[in-house]
Amino acid sequence: MAYPTREIRVPGVRQLCGHRMIDGKERTLTPMTELADLMVGGQVLRITRWGEPILHEQTRPVTQFDSEFHTLVRDMFATMTAADGVGLAAPQVGDDRSFFIFRCPDADDQMYVGVVANPHIILPDGKNRQLVSEEEGCLSLPGSYSPLARPDHAICRGQDHNGKPIEIAGTGLLARCLQHETDHLEGMVFGDRLSDRARKRLYADHEESAYRYPEDWPISPKGEFDPTR
Ligand SMILES: [Zn+2]
Repeated sequence: MAYPTREIRVPGVRQLCGHRMIDGKERTLTPMTELADLMVGGQVLRITRWGEPILHEQTRPVTQFDSEFHTLVRDMFATMTAADGVGLAAPQVGDDRSFFIFRCPDADDQMYVGVVANPHIILPDGKNRQLVSEEEGCLSLPGSYSPLARPDHAICRGQDHNGKPIEIAGTGLLARCLQHETDHLEGMVFGDRLSDRARKRLYADHEESAYRYPEDWPISPKGEFDPTR
């Protein structure tokens, strides 16, 4: 998931999006010593774009938590960092397995980082269900954002990078990220949740900034803003 740094509504989030941490702590349900190894040394991969079939198909379960899987996780952390994102799902790097990674702050500006395979999302219902509308973006449609109403908290259950069961309770941007990434694994992009009018506006915004994103982005970096266009 991409977060619109041009329009910050929550004080403090901007610096978190730059991959710095509040009070030097990262929160994870997985021992940081294990995860740290997966967060360095990866290779940046091309991010797929909306319209490519892999982004619109159901994924298959992760069954092997082996070194091949860990190599892909490592490459995805490198890719998400290069693209300045807060979450990245496997189909966004052309893989059809059901998992995503995230490095994202919650409503209290605490940074959470992790890997979730075979996720299942649990959303509040009844009186507990509060929708919040915030700007949302996707690394697979870079450069454009749209407000989208989603439940303000979410629980995500799945398996970590070694296949151990995990559960993450997310608030704020993290709640949105967990929902956005789980959608990807079901072949859904956030444009599918917008009205026709909002989706058209989103595509028009994307067209305007598309010149900055090379076909193989973020392998090739984003181009400079051109005010004369
Ligand atoms: Zn996305």
